[in-house]
Amino acid sequence: MADQIVPFLDLAAIHRELADELVAATRVAIESARFIGGPEVDQFEREFAQYCGTKHCIGVGSGTDAVRFALMAAGVRPGDAVITVSNTFIATVEGISQAGAETEFVDIDERTYEMSADSLAAYLKSCRTDAATGRPLGRRTGKPIRAIVPVHLYGQVGDFACIRDLAEEYGLLVIEDACQAHGAEYLDASASRVTSHDVRWRRAGSLGKAAAFSFYPGKNLGACGEAGAVTTDDDEVAAYIRMIRDHGQSKKYYHQIEGYNGRLDSIQAAYLRIKLRYLDTWNAQRREAAARYNEQLSPFAQSAGIVLPYEPASSRGVYHLYVIRTQERDAVAAALNANGVQTGFHYPVPLHLQECYRSWGYGLGSLPVTERVAAEIISLPMFPGLTAQQQSRVAVELESALRAGVR
Ligand SMILES: *Cc1c(COP(=O)(O)O)cnc(C)c1O
Repeated sequence: MADQIVPFLDLAAIHRELADELVAATRVAIESARFIGGPEVDQFEREFAQYCGTKHCIGVGSGTDAVRFALMAAGVRPGDAVITVSNTFIATVEGISQAGAETEFVDIDERTYEMSADSLAAYLKSCRTDAATGRPLGRRTGKPIRAIVPVHLYGQVGDFACIRDLAEEYGLLVIEDACQAHGAEYLDASASRVTSHDVRWRRAGSLGKAAAFSFYPGKNLGACGEAGAVTTDDDEVAAYIRMIRDHGQSKKYYHQIEGYNGRLDSIQAAYLRIKLRYLDTWNAQRREAAARYNEQLSPFAQSAGIVLPYEPASSRGVYHLYVIRTQERDAVAAALNANGVQTGFHYPVPLHLQECYRSWGYGLGSLPVTERVAAEIISLPMFPGLTAQQQSRVAVELESALRAGVR
């Protein structure tokens, strides 16, 4: 077949459409020579906070900075333990380690691939209690647990209400890793909440004590370089991050604490302001593309043994990735790639089995759902502007790979 390649992500096309606006913003930045701080950063922070429905947004240098700073600002200290999932990008755990804390993993839900509230509940129940702090002690590390970091993986919020209820019960903070979930919505209608909170759709980033966003170029909202942000309603958390991202100073050359060089560039802020105006349109296009995949793949999904993404009624995902499962994963991916359909694995090796964390002692079998899922997932092409035609091509190649070659 002489068909063109269906790319996994066509970043160049997205930027080609915005080129005039981006070039104009670059010119303004060069003429003003305001490269650090200034009105573009302030205005982006205001606009993104408003978009997420939070009081504050603090621009930082990357999503990894955002995770680290959010944890530190919320009160995670060296010697604390933090619970998260193993099916995520390593930056989640880097942020925890760099805040001085140690990671405890819990398993994921077999349908949503997000943190499993059941696994979290069972884990917490099995922890001993620290006499000094009253907090649960991490089962791997023996350290008092301070926070939970649910990751809104693939652009979807999982069982957030249950996770937050457990956090309240055990006195823990919840910090969202929303690095893949710009604009994702969650219906917070859990029974225990109806009396104290209003029931409505809320955006990722507004659900926990604070949330970390990445604007890595390939994310749903991406800069033209490195960038990130923390969103929060908490004035103290916001003030602390404003300080640590800028060498711990509250005023130039007056350092309350030792901080970091973790600021958001003015020029990236200007690009992000332009792109933020398109985010809802792009996310809608991703949701439409996901609906089309569902339609195109469901006629043969069951007979061919593939599992399509599951979106609970409480979730409106933004499909950062469209992820399917098949037991013939490696063969299917090889066949698709050989026939011009680019795919990815997110992620091929869960973090608890990575070389760098080997000393933590998690072996094969310690997180069974995560391990099963990691061996079976394929991410199909997904980006705003993906056409129905390109998707038909994916469906045809996928069906033929499943039916013929790989069996
Ligand atoms: C991209 C990502 C990060 C890190 O973001 P960077 O901007 O690359 O530092 C953290 N967590 C998750 C889940 C991500 O996808």
